[in-house]
Amino acid sequence: MKAAAVYPDKKMLGVVADFAEPKLESPTGVKLKILNVGVCGTDREIASFLYGIPPEGSEYLVIGHECVGEVLEVGPEAEGLKPGDLVIPMVRRPCAHPECVACQAGRPDFCYTGDYRERGIMKMHGFMTEMVVDEVRYMNPVPAAIRNVAVLVEPLTIAEKALIQVRQIQQRLPWRSRSAVVLGAGPVGLLGALTLRLHGFEVTVYSKDREPNASADIVKAIGGHYISALDRTIDQMAADVGAIDLVYEAAGSSQLAFNVLRVLGPNGVFVMTGVPGNHGPMPFDTDAAMHNLVLKNQCVLGTVNAGKDAFEHAVTDLTEFYAKWPDAVNGLITGRFPIDDFAQPIQNQKGIKNIIEIAR
Ligand SMILES: [Zn+2]
Ligand SMILES: [Zn+2]
Repeated sequence: MKAAAVYPDKKMLGVVADFAEPKLESPTGVKLKILNVGVCGTDREIASFLYGIPPEGSEYLVIGHECVGEVLEVGPEAEGLKPGDLVIPMVRRPCAHPECVACQAGRPDFCYTGDYRERGIMKMHGFMTEMVVDEVRYMNPVPAAIRNVAVLVEPLTIAEKALIQVRQIQQRLPWRSRSAVVLGAGPVGLLGALTLRLHGFEVTVYSKDREPNASADIVKAIGGHYISALDRTIDQMAADVGAIDLVYEAAGSSQLAFNVLRVLGPNGVFVMTGVPGNHGPMPFDTDAAMHNLVLKNQCVLGTVNAGKDAFEHAVTDLTEFYAKWPDAVNGLITGRFPIDDFAQPIQNQKGIKNIIEIAR
């Protein structure tokens, strides 16, 4: 069986030709045939050897954490799934510390210790291979209608977890806020824009590239606005939008994020999802920021990974996006590669979302 792997000690990428086919061992286990695996910034970091740890005793890590699979076989106690069903496996597995209330409560996405494992990232092989075995409780069924785009569910969970939390914060307001700015027009930003648009926000995507570009076309197809940072400064963008109720940051630039925090509106929520590189200290007006945070009832929120609730919302919303905006959703997947060429979209990022097609 083939598997796409990173060898951190040798600093190389390669296809493992004889990766052992996994066997169903637990009564609640599920065996999947992997269809598609998405490539994202995390894979690029792992492939640059900045991140990612192989399982104990292995010299390589099989990568891939954004996937859709088809059920081949289920254990006798794996309830709710049957061969032929499509599923999205979750990525993170709980830490083993009994004092971690988050992991004990089945929410490793809020793990306190950092000793969690993640498939394709941290001490567990991932999904960029032909077949995998996992536990039924980590599986999220998806309807056959979204088979071709279901690989987007996992990256969509970032926006869904954010929106769940934004809604909780906004319960403090007896009205629904409506105006959202998305920073960045990569896959995370665009999936955020789709989610916010579907849930009734006026959405403006603020990103580097000038129009025309494929991301701007998608934003406009869903009824959003696109503003290029080359044409409008942050203050001009804020003046165009009016009071900004929500900023969904998906650009990974701390300088951009904190500059935009300056123009967040009254009662606004600022959600950060990007992980910036370490570029050293930057000047920042802390007095002005604190002044705004307090006098405007603002909230800044960081979010990572996702729980079962976000996966369920992602499946429901992606199904709805696909029915409503099929061309926009198809347009998010800009490259499809065979497993033998998996390194290509990782080392040479082009387009919006690239995927590895393992089976059809
Ligand atoms: Zn990812
Ligand atoms: Zn934990």
